Amino acid sequence: MLPKLYVIGVAALAFVALGGSAQAQQRPRFESTKVEGTDNVYVFRYGNRQAMFVVTTQGVIATDPIGYGQLQAVTTYLDEIKKVTNQPVKYVIYSHHHFDHIAGGKPFKDAGARFVAHKRARERLALLKDPHTVLPDETLEKQRTIKLGNTALELTYLGLNHSDSTLFMRLPKEKIAFAVDFISVGTLPGRGMIDSYPLEWEASLKKVLAMDWEKLIPGHPGAGGRLGNKQDVQDILTFLQDASAEVKVAAREGKCWDQVEKELKLPKYANWPNYEQALPFVLRRYCGLWGRGT
Ligand SMILES: [Zn+2]
Repeated sequence: MLPKLYVIGVAALAFVALGGSAQAQQRPRFESTKVEGTDNVYVFRYGNRQAMFVVTTQGVIATDPIGYGQLQAVTTYLDEIKKVTNQPVKYVIYSHHHFDHIAGGKPFKDAGARFVAHKRARERLALLKDPHTVLPDETLEKQRTIKLGNTALELTYLGLNHSDSTLFMRLPKEKIAFAVDFISVGTLPGRGMIDSYPLEWEASLKKVLAMDWEKLIPGHPGAGGRLGNKQDVQDILTFLQDASAEVKVAAREGKCWDQVEKELKLPKYANWPNYEQALPFVLRRYCGLWGRGT
C-alpha cells in the first residue's frame, strides 16, 4: 500500500499537469467543441492545450499545432477537422513562438497549409532550428486580415506581453477572439512569466479591452473548461497591476530576490485555482523588473 502522502502528491501533480481544474481529470484526452452561437468556429483541445480552427466556404484556417511532446496531437487535430469539413486547411497561424503551442506542424504543411506568424517569431525560430517546428511562410509586423470564403480573421500585434511575438486573433463577424498565454481564463499566469514583459503586457491588455469581441478562446482551458470574457481580461490586468505594485515597494527596500520570494504573499488571489504554483514565478519576474531593472 502506498503511503497516504505519496498518493496525495500524485493527485496534486495530475491536478497541476491538467491546468489546475478538478474537472479536467474527468475529461477525455482530446476533444473538439463548436463555439456556441457559431456554425464554423471550433476549439480543439489536446491535453492541457487548445487551438481554434475556423471553417469557411473556401477552406479552413487553423491555429497553433500544439504538438510539443505530443506529436500525435497534430494528426488528431487534422482528423478532427476532417470530421467536420471536406475543406482543406489553407492556413496555420502561430499565436506566438513558444514550442508548447506551435511545435509539430508538419502534417499541416504536408497537407498544403501556409504558415503565418509574427515577424519576431520567424526570426527566433530560424535561430533555434527546432526539428519539430515548421518555419512560417509569411510574417506580419502590425496587422493583417486573412479573408477566406465567407469569413475573415484579423491578426493584430499588440506589442510586448507574454512574449515578443504574440498575435491577438479576432473574428470580427463572429465576435470571437483567440489569445494564448497573455490572457488566462480564471487562472493566474505562472511559469510563463519567465520571459514576459510585465509593463508592456498591461498596455496590451488595455488594448484588448477596447476591441470589439464577446467570447475568448484561451490557449489553455479556462477554469472549468469555460471560454473567457472581458471580465477575465480585466481580472488578469488587475492581478498584474497588484503584483507589480507589491513587489515594487519590496524591491525598493532591497528585498529582492530571496526575501520577496520567501515572504511576499498576494492574499487577495489565494483562492484562485493555481495560486500556490503561480506565485513564485510571478514574484521572481517582478523582482527582475523592480529589483534589477529588467
Ligand atoms: Zn507561451
